[in-house]
Amino acid sequence: MITNEPVAEWPEVSTREKIVLALMPFGVPLMPPLGISCLKTYLQQHRYTNVKTVNFLVAPGIQDEYAAYFRTLGEGFTGDEGAVTGNYYYDRGHNVLNNHMMAYLNHNDEEKYIHLVKQLIYTHFFITVDEPLVRRLHGVVERFYHRFERLLARFLEDEKPDVLGLSVSRDGLPASLFAFRVAREKFPHTRTVMGGSVFFDYLAPGTPGFELFLESTRGSIDKIIIGEGELLLLKLLQGKLPRGRRVYGAADIGGEILDLETAGIPDFSDFDLSYFPYLGAYTSRSCPYQCSFCAETLGWGKYRKKSARQVASELQELHGLYDRQLYFMGDSLLNPIITPLARELVKDDRSLYWDGYLRVDRHACDPEKTMLWRRGGFYRARMGLESGSQRILDMMDKQITVEQTKKAISALAYAGIKTTTFWVVGHPGETEDDFQLTLDLLETLKDDLYEAFCIPFTYNLIGQAKSDEWRRTNTSIPLYPEDAVDVLFIQAWTMDCKPSREETNRRSLRFIRHLKKLGIPYPHIFSEVIAAEERWKTLHENAVPSQAEFMERSRYIDENKQIHPLMFVRNTLQDDSDFNF
Ligand code: SF4
Repeated sequence: MITNEPVAEWPEVSTREKIVLALMPFGVPLMPPLGISCLKTYLQQHRYTNVKTVNFLVAPGIQDEYAAYFRTLGEGFTGDEGAVTGNYYYDRGHNVLNNHMMAYLNHNDEEKYIHLVKQLIYTHFFITVDEPLVRRLHGVVERFYHRFERLLARFLEDEKPDVLGLSVSRDGLPASLFAFRVAREKFPHTRTVMGGSVFFDYLAPGTPGFELFLESTRGSIDKIIIGEGELLLLKLLQGKLPRGRRVYGAADIGGEILDLETAGIPDFSDFDLSYFPYLGAYTSRSCPYQCSFCAETLGWGKYRKKSARQVASELQELHGLYDRQLYFMGDSLLNPIITPLARELVKDDRSLYWDGYLRVDRHACDPEKTMLWRRGGFYRARMGLESGSQRILDMMDKQITVEQTKKAISALAYAGIKTTTFWVVGHPGETEDDFQLTLDLLETLKDDLYEAFCIPFTYNLIGQAKSDEWRRTNTSIPLYPEDAVDVLFIQAWTMDCKPSREETNRRSLRFIRHLKKLGIPYPHIFSEVIAAEERWKTLHENAVPSQAEFMERSRYIDENKQIHPLMFVRNTLQDDSDFNF
């Protein structure tokens, strides 16, 4: 149930008024923000023409502060170099950084605050750091907020928005709340609205943190939108949502969902595209599957997709407008469209490359299909392989087999498509034997893995497909001290089950050491990406061009049009009928 309390009315926003949609730090800027660019297009289609989008992730100095925090945090590690690089370190580190930033904003007792940051580091890394290091981290956070406040105030002064809308993920939550406070303090007449993926998991309605969040932000955030943004934001601006409310969701528009055929292409015209290796696009919303640990379907609702012809012509239109060849597809999953889309793009003289999430399925096991995808510009498959244990894959409802995983990875690598793979470590019920099977599978596949990322299992009280079942069958234990929740807003949870969080952490570090031993990259920073790309080229004759080649932009890349089959022992899985979307 969505909590509501009486709020001041929001008069209809006229189509002439200025609307600013923004994304706040932190994060790695892969592409200009897709969500707010889609919202801009949609609002413009409905006569709201005075819309500006802005990405503070790439504002001057912001990435320097981000790097400084992780550099400083890394000083607390001794002896295990593998632990302070790659996605494991940054993923865990983001949990520390986000909570630290929130604690900085809300604390009123210095001693407790310093102690809390130490606890946060221990909770996520199981290491104990000394107070001087915590004070240095505090210095980085303080400097960030000072710098960010100056940037923000100048921006708001220049733009003078009538409406400020922030799209917020977990990693952007503290800076977004700060931005709302600054806006309310310095520009009290600006109406404020917040949406984004943070409401799909960490701040899902029904979590204790959500109630606290509503209470604490009443003075700075006028309206909150939960779910797909386009229809809800438009109706909010038009004054068509129920009055006197603060929180809105899909039920307030009768469960209506966006028609993707008419939604248009994202508008990136406000961004300096030279910052980004990719442009963004999408073919669908939501996912036709429901893996146990995933919150995707609960956030986006019913699965929908565009036709391959429409997506191909949208990519061509984006290329015509922005002259970029490399696209990141923001879909949960490309399987339902990948083959028809590749066929459409093979017919086109242009070479457009696209990267996105893919599941193991029969088609991915077929080298003829992967070669077709490669010729159609498919650049990188981001795949949740999760585990080398069939028992665990079945517990996750992954609906794949380990044998299919092997075939799919080989067939993709054969075509030179980068295989970015994600592995869940510590899923409830994972035994040492199951984990060993994962390590064994990494070894078997090592030359066909472009990169591998360890994802320690995380339990959300609400939001994952199996949250309800897990909540019923296990005791949920709060991760952070109860008396810190009014400072952090978000309480994270763990389950009283095996493997424990400590054991999951040990296995994660073993996973990383194993990657290192096998020479499988787990890159995060640019120099690590370059090294991974060089390795891929030495391993695979059909390897796709590097990201750096696309960023050079001095030449047009069309090598996909000349890709030819190599010798390959063809597997026999040819049935086209197993994927009935
Ligand atoms: S993990 Fe991937 S395939 Fe599974 S539900 Fe989430 S998005 Fe869909």
